[in-house]
Amino acid sequence: MPGILYLVPTPIGNLGDISDRVRQTLADADFIAAEDTRVSRKLLNHLALKKPLVSYYEHNRAESGPKILERLLAGEVCALVTDAGTPAISDPGEDLVALCAQAGVPVCAIPGPCAAVTALAVSGLPTGRFTFEGFLSVNKRSRREHLASLQNERRTMVFYEAPHKLCATLRDLSAAFGPDRRIALCRELSKLHEEVLRMTLGEAEAYYAARPPRGEYVLVLAGAPAAEVPTPTLDAALARAAALMEAGLRRKDAVRQAAQECGVPRNALYEASLKESD
Ligand code: SAM
Repeated sequence: MPGILYLVPTPIGNLGDISDRVRQTLADADFIAAEDTRVSRKLLNHLALKKPLVSYYEHNRAESGPKILERLLAGEVCALVTDAGTPAISDPGEDLVALCAQAGVPVCAIPGPCAAVTALAVSGLPTGRFTFEGFLSVNKRSRREHLASLQNERRTMVFYEAPHKLCATLRDLSAAFGPDRRIALCRELSKLHEEVLRMTLGEAEAYYAARPPRGEYVLVLAGAPAAEVPTPTLDAALARAAALMEAGLRRKDAVRQAAQECGVPRNALYEASLKESD
């Protein structure tokens, strides 16, 4: 019988956010897989727990994942923790969960701190429908394509960002969505210097031009107002599909993505795209 992989959320800034269930799961696990064993050892010390730790992080997951899976298949219980927040949300864990799912190892996610959800909740922007965008790529082309794909997004968008990249990101967001679009900049959530600034992209750019950003940020961006979203046209979707194919996507995938983004029927777009290439 396989063991179980627990995804154990850890505080994003306030040790008071450790739940009884988190404490108990860590205490009961056979071993703990940690993004940074030094960070997690501090947490375990705080909980007066001594547990075997193995390292599982971005640059060793290809080797470490199968080893952890082997132990799980042999019946051990593993608690996965990352440096802060919910494992597998923009940090290592996603691949390990996929490995377990493929191998039939049960995975149990314990609910708890997550910077994205905390920021969304406090943002003051609509929460009924939202998209999680993670970190924007530093690669210029991927970044441009990512932002272009959000042009007509009506849902609230949630981004993670590092302080030293914040000004450049605000500049790019403002160029992509216009300086009047509203944003909530959620900084140092659950920490001593927690701050939520609600302003427009233009105001945010000006604000941070005068003060160097410090701490950890989640950016919550308002979706496009209905009036700003153009009625979907096949021509716009065709242009988008052509750009995606130029970027290397196969026609089928480019059409699927463009149809979804532009809100036009996939079959009609596929036929039009084929016709255009004749
Ligand atoms: N898995 C984590 C979670 O559930 O939130 C996120 C990990 S991701 C590598 C780290 C990013 O989360 C940071 O760069 C920042 O954008 C955001 N973040 C983490 N803690 C935060 C905090 N206390 N306040 C604001 N943003 C935070």
